[in-house]
Formats: sequence, C-alpha cells, structure tokens
Amino acid sequence: MYEEFMAAEDLLDRAGLLDTNLPIPLDSVIEYLAKDGLELHYYDPKLAPESVKNAAYGVDEVLHWKDGTAALFINQSRPRTRQRFSLCHGIGHFLLPYHRELNYLARGCNTMRPLTTKPYERQADRFAAALNMPPTRFRQDMKTATPGMTGILELASSYSASIESAAIHYVGLAEVPCSLLRLDLVKIGPGSRDGPYKVRYQIRNDQFPFLIPSGLRIEKFPDEIVDWKPWQGQYMPEGLVYLESIGPGQVGREVALRSYTYPHRAGVLGGVLALLFLAKPLKWAFFQ
Ligand SMILES: [Zn+2]
Repeated sequence: MYEEFMAAEDLLDRAGLLDTNLPIPLDSVIEYLAKDGLELHYYDPKLAPESVKNAAYGVDEVLHWKDGTAALFINQSRPRTRQRFSLCHGIGHFLLPYHRELNYLARGCNTMRPLTTKPYERQADRFAAALNMPPTRFRQDMKTATPGMTGILELASSYSASIESAAIHYVGLAEVPCSLLRLDLVKIGPGSRDGPYKVRYQIRNDQFPFLIPSGLRIEKFPDEIVDWKPWQGQYMPEGLVYLESIGPGQVGREVALRSYTYPHRAGVLGGVLALLFLAKPLKWAFFQ
C-alpha cells in the first residue's frame, strides 16, 4: 500500500474516524487537526480574502502558512465532491513529510490531476483519495458493490466522492486486471454525439497489460458490440470492444467495457469514463 494511503488511514485512526458512518466526516477531521494549527476557510473566488487573492481564481485550494499555523482555503464555487477532494488534498500537503517546505502551495493547487508530473501533487492526490475513501474499507465495499461501473457509481455516492475519483481509486485497488479511460468527445459539429473521442488519460493497475496513449483518437465505439443502456439519465455502454479499435499494436485482444458517459445535457454527451477488464478470461472472482 502507498505510504500516502497509510498516512491517511493513520490520521483517521488517530481521530477515531476510521469506522465512522460514511461519508467520512471531514469537518471532524478538520476539528481534530485544529490542535496542530490547521484552520479551514471556504472562499468565493470573487470575494477572496486578501491573503489568497492573487491565487484564488482558477484553483481548487490554497494552503497558506503563517507563523507555524496553516490556513486552508477551499474554492466554494466548485462542485461539492470536488471541494471534499480538494480539502483532503490540502490536508495531505499539511501533513505529509517534506510538504511544509513547498513554497508554491500558497499559489494554490488544481487537484485530482492524474497526469501531473509533480511528485508532491501526486502524493497529495493519493492522500486525498485515501482520506475520502479509506483504502481498506473501500476495498471491502468493492466486493459487495455491483461489479463494474454501476458499482463505482454506488461507491462514489456512499463516499460522497466524484465518479472520476472513485473510478481512479477503484482501478488502483482492484485485484483483477483493470483500467480506466477518460475520453473526451471531439466536437466536430452537431450530430456528432457518438464520437470521435480522444483519450485524455488512462489509469491502469499493475496487472492490466495494455498501454493506451493520451491523445489517441477513437472514431467510434463499435455499436454492434456495445450496448448503450440508459442508466439514471446517463448512458452506460457495456459490452466487449476489440483493442484494435482503441489502440495500435494490440490487434485481436478483447477487453470488456463498462463505461459511464457524462455530462448528459440536452442530448449531448461530453465525455466517457470507460472501465476496461480483460475479456478472456473475464473472471469476477474478485467480487465473489
Ligand atoms: Zn497540491
């Protein structure tokens, strides 16, 4: 398990919150950290306080150190689940070794950036995921959740996490080969709701063998094998795709697709989160 995962669970344990009702009560985490000199503030970017004014626009959180105490400012114009993640990310910077010397934190962070090359940001994101979705507990809940993307939606809801952060966490903790693709619809005009799509990023666990490069264009999910099912106002294609329709050099390999498309507004699909498992053998032993 990652060091940041253990640090987050250790914090919850010390605060007596490891087995609490979900979602994790972050207010109580903040209360617990007050004795260590952490203070929480929410800000409206239009009315940002003087100390963070220059940083406030366009970031999710700002951590401002002064005289041994830290003020954590959370951008309240973001969705609720993003605010939670950003709060956890900021706590990560506050607690993790070596992060206190990072002078760039006062300029603010954009959180949940799976492609970031800054190691401290990766660590803070990992810590954030683990504080909001404690890995030991999340992994247990994965076993009783519905397999695949539906289960991710269930988990995201009970942990009050964004679907994307829950999906990234899920892939990292899955005990079967598993990968997540974040795809953006390429806008080529009206009527292009079925693609093409561009890969924004791939997350895969150690067992998933195929690397799918960012920027790769996917013309269309093959309709004949993907079943587009409406699910609570969203579309969830499920089925088998052939990797040759996803990436070069992987001809003939099948993966099973469970995906979630969003946002779904006025008939326009914005992006797709696709969960990939190996089709052969497609074992759900993990979930039994
Ligand atoms: Zn950060």
